[in-house]
Amino acid sequence: MTQPPPSPIEEPAEDRQAASPLTRLGEARWILLFAFAAITGAVVLHEVPLTTGLLVMAAMVVVTCFVPRKSSSRRVKLNAQREIRRMWPGTGMKVTVDALPTPCFVADGRGITRYVNKQALSIYEGVKPGDPLSFSLRAPSLLEAFDRVCATGEAEKISWIEKVPTETWYEAHISPIYMPGSGGQEKVPKLPDFILVVIQDLTENRRLERMRTDFVANASHELRTPLASLTGFIETLQGPARNDPDARDRFLSIMLDQAGRMRRLIDDILSLSRIELKAHVRPANEVDLSEIVRHTADALSPLASDMGVEIRLQLPETPVRIKGDRDELIQVTENLIENALKYGHDGKFVDVGLSKQSAPQDALSWQLSVRDYGEGIPREHLPRLTERFYRVDVESSRAMKGTGLGLAIVKHILTRHRGRLEVESEPGQGATFKVSLPATENAEGLPEKISA
Ligand code: ADP
Repeated sequence: MTQPPPSPIEEPAEDRQAASPLTRLGEARWILLFAFAAITGAVVLHEVPLTTGLLVMAAMVVVTCFVPRKSSSRRVKLNAQREIRRMWPGTGMKVTVDALPTPCFVADGRGITRYVNKQALSIYEGVKPGDPLSFSLRAPSLLEAFDRVCATGEAEKISWIEKVPTETWYEAHISPIYMPGSGGQEKVPKLPDFILVVIQDLTENRRLERMRTDFVANASHELRTPLASLTGFIETLQGPARNDPDARDRFLSIMLDQAGRMRRLIDDILSLSRIELKAHVRPANEVDLSEIVRHTADALSPLASDMGVEIRLQLPETPVRIKGDRDELIQVTENLIENALKYGHDGKFVDVGLSKQSAPQDALSWQLSVRDYGEGIPREHLPRLTERFYRVDVESSRAMKGTGLGLAIVKHILTRHRGRLEVESEPGQGATFKVSLPATENAEGLPEKISA
């Protein structure tokens, strides 16, 4: 264990031991001379016995020699040391600040940076102890709060947004630090010895919060539209169309459609939240991906023939074993092939293939690719396709009974399976959705290597 540094108000042990009896006698010479004069006076003028006088004098000399006391010069030195400790944080404070996981600045009461931890050094380049804090922290609200903490001695928490280069949310805790014995406990505290500024980047938290609220807003909006249409038709059927059998049949079929849309939406929302709940649990069962793809293609063949599209399969002869959840992998394949049929039916063909891939370090993975020859997707939409409710064209998605959640579900399922989704597309050239999934692990828990 390392020796803790002495407290700023403690006299260091070596100072106490350093003074010799002779030095102490020298330091107390004036007091001793005065005492000698007083004792001599008492002996001569007041007939105090000489032996008593000599005994008192001897006792004073012994006490001076052997009882340690602070010399004035040592006191001055000590005060200077205290002053320095008040200007520069001690090792204990530095070690503590270094242990904090967020950027921290220690400044003095005049706003001069006295110490910064490693996190702050890595984010705020060029920050130097001795420079004003405002050289590195420029947010006006933060500097104003810092001044208030200096003046009042009360801790504050503030947050602010920086717009450049990207929108970033920050929160700072500004706390005064009083060294022991420096007057922090007084009713009207003095200027703090140090101010600790701890900065936290809240951007990720805010982004998640915004995603959650956006999701709720989008989901309720998506549900409200068919609900409004259902209510409207029910009112019409109760009123003006009460005795119109033709209108009633037409309206009932639209109502069935809208109810179906609501059901699909609720199914997808529930599916998404179920997958999110299991996000950190890796599937343990072994499944045959090739069989899953074949099964899904068969299930979608009626839709394909309705759309006038042929699904062309290119699957390995032997089983393709991976660790996975069968139902979830069916959902992935179904969503991708169904999208290719819905949005790429103009191309007349959908190619579905499964092939071995050599990932980094020769780990074996399988790649499922679903290619259509339809309109394709403009490049700017590609990065956002897996966002919830994101559609390239809302009307065509609705016309195709889309909910805007299909690819978000695919992404979540793949995250749970340690898989990846890549989309390649050029407008007018169709789109290819590629899914990579790690092959079954070997005994060491690593994906099997491709045999030469
Ligand atoms: P949806 O339920 O609307 O189909 P998805 O999440 O499955 O929602 O897809 C999001 C959007 O991506 C779709 O609305 C569509 O605009 C676009 N998209 C997905 N697959 C294709 C594809 N194969 N070709 C063209 N656009 C596609």
